[in-house]
Amino acid sequence: MINVTKTFLPPQKEYEAVLSRAWNTGWMTNRGVLVRELEAKLQTYLGTTNIIAMTNGTLPLQIAIKALGLKGEIVTTPFSYVATTSSIVWEGCTPVFVDIHSEYLTIDETKIEAAITPRTSAILATHVFGNPCDIEAIESIAKKHNLKVIYDAAHCFGVTYKGVSIFNYGDVSTCSFHATKLFHTGEGGALFCKPNYFETMYSHHNFGHDGPENFHSQGVNAKMSEPQAAMGLAVFPYMNTILEERKKVVDAYNNAFINSGLQLMKIREYTSWNYSYYPVIFKDENQLLKVKQALESVSIFPRRYFYPSLNTLPYVEKHTMEVSESISSRVLCLPLYVGLEQKYLKQIVDIIKESLI
Ligand SMILES: *Cc1c(COP(=O)(O)O)cnc(C)c1O
Repeated sequence: MINVTKTFLPPQKEYEAVLSRAWNTGWMTNRGVLVRELEAKLQTYLGTTNIIAMTNGTLPLQIAIKALGLKGEIVTTPFSYVATTSSIVWEGCTPVFVDIHSEYLTIDETKIEAAITPRTSAILATHVFGNPCDIEAIESIAKKHNLKVIYDAAHCFGVTYKGVSIFNYGDVSTCSFHATKLFHTGEGGALFCKPNYFETMYSHHNFGHDGPENFHSQGVNAKMSEPQAAMGLAVFPYMNTILEERKKVVDAYNNAFINSGLQLMKIREYTSWNYSYYPVIFKDENQLLKVKQALESVSIFPRRYFYPSLNTLPYVEKHTMEVSESISSRVLCLPLYVGLEQKYLKQIVDIIKESLI
């Protein structure tokens, strides 16, 4: 069975060797040595500052909204994983959708200002499939209207924009280290923020504690545990291999689909991308369904990331988002992972090409 992704697992012995260090300390959580070491390594590798490792990639979004004190409306994208929208609603704010760019698949910055009202407090945009939003445009709109900017950068491990880690943009950026993501800790994630927000964010992820007996503020428990960090530390040495191997698969798909009539995602200029997903966009939903069925009949399971368009969720106000709904109905992410065998890659390409004739 070939799935859209396959979790990269380091040799089990290497995981156990890191984990044994947690046994030696007797600490399983509460920011033990492994979590702190992972944070330090990631900061150096990514070139970021102010990282807080967390237990998944959704809580950082919720914490960012809460800790920035956001109220009212948050302008956001309908083309993302459900966590982007659900976090806004969960924190008692209202998502206001702005349609997406048809080639970059990120929020259409030219339509953001029209969606801003006196109740707008922030922009929460997703760097979809690791492809950056128009960061400069969003920053200048945010400045002009005095809005906070949060980036759901769940797909962005290792991505740089203009030579700088993508996590360094916006007031807060979040990442997911879920097992299906590029770099993983089983479940896990991180929040990256401007230095002036660090203390508040940190305190919110640890019950609002200010020392053992004092409390700053409300908080929640979003701490990463030691076994999670151990997985991260065991995967970390393989990051360059993971990126190289994924690049090979992406290059093979690109070579196969260039001039095929399939729409491929356009990567924004000045981006060093991370080969995190391989979305292909068909001419219509029927063609997508035909390909999906043909692949599934030989036990190959691509995924409809992201379907449905989030503006159609049952708990949000209904507004049509033409581009997002159209792309959502036509986009399929193809299998992409370390160790995807050549023969399956060829089979996937052949089945798709046949359906395009
Ligand atoms: C995976 C993902 C999340 C949620 O991350 P978890 O670690 O699964 O909680 C949020 N946003 C996007 C865009 C994602 O793909």
